[in-house]
Amino acid sequence: MASRDETGFGAQFGNRPGAWHAGGTFPGGLARLKETVSRPTREGGAIGVSSMHALSHIEGVYPVGVDPALPRPFVGIVGALHGNERCGLAVVEGLRDPEHPIRRALRFGTLVLIHGNPEATRVCRRHTPDGADLNRLFDFSFAHTMPRHAWGSEHYRALALRPVIESLDAVLDLHSATAATEPFAIVQGPFVPLAARLGCACVTFGWDRPAILSRNMLCSPVSNRYQPAVAVECGQHEDPAAIETAFEVTERFLEVLGMIPPLKTHRDAARTRTIEVAFRVAKPNPAFQFTRPFAGFDRVRKGEILGRGGGVDLVASDDFVVLLPNDGVAVGEDLLFLGKERQILDGVSSDWPDSRSDRDVA
Ligand SMILES: [Zn+2]
Repeated sequence: MASRDETGFGAQFGNRPGAWHAGGTFPGGLARLKETVSRPTREGGAIGVSSMHALSHIEGVYPVGVDPALPRPFVGIVGALHGNERCGLAVVEGLRDPEHPIRRALRFGTLVLIHGNPEATRVCRRHTPDGADLNRLFDFSFAHTMPRHAWGSEHYRALALRPVIESLDAVLDLHSATAATEPFAIVQGPFVPLAARLGCACVTFGWDRPAILSRNMLCSPVSNRYQPAVAVECGQHEDPAAIETAFEVTERFLEVLGMIPPLKTHRDAARTRTIEVAFRVAKPNPAFQFTRPFAGFDRVRKGEILGRGGGVDLVASDDFVVLLPNDGVAVGEDLLFLGKERQILDGVSSDWPDSRSDRDVA
């Protein structure tokens, strides 16, 4: 088995075991990112357990690796955090097979395969009927702010997964979407260059701002420690191509980390577009609907009426790209997000006051 130095993993992750050095040696050029980016709150080394054996009893958590001791680094591959999203689950199930080409290529460390929300998968839903969106619970604030009788299945699941997620040195979280969409990555600003190497059509950032989704996603506890964390929307739920994309993204993620050698020639990452999320729009009332069908990454023009109903018109205040449109959601849930296209190297500049204050108190 290769040591850390022989594999180059140490060089890519920084000098300390499990630590990611922002602005350091990452070949994608983290050092070129501007200082004004919304910064992870805390730089730190490895935390959590020293062997994944300690956590392998948790339902849907399958640590696998070449060393039976299941040592660090721990790289999480997450599928079906939303129960009805099959592509990530296909990867989790596929990589449980020791003969899978990705497993056979693994050089070191432990892949922590995680079926995010088994209970929701059993009922073929995004989340359980009386539960909540699991991917909005990973700041764990509900444990202090919400009475226990109001918790659903997902609240208990988030706490069950907490020691696993907080132990990870890197994570890839695989999703699919209700509407057709090009594959795209979701990252905190410093990981735009890493995500640009995963072969997705687009890399998006800015989701972690308080006015958008905040730092309560599964990736947040990992990227808050400045360690690689990428969520990928692989395509539409039922599109078989989403499964293909999920496997390709997983392979490239592990290549970038140095955990497997390059297995095949991939598309040129230079074709990846970078989009900064600017606004989250929640569904305002039950009657509200889009004025036309939207697919992910459709462009809208300033002044265009995007939706109406219940006495409300939604008018674009500028030219935008539409992300994750879905007018079938419940009132108060995510109707769509609006983003602006950026050049990859200047796309991380930010004048967002909320991200600054966030940094000040970190
Ligand atoms: Zn999802």
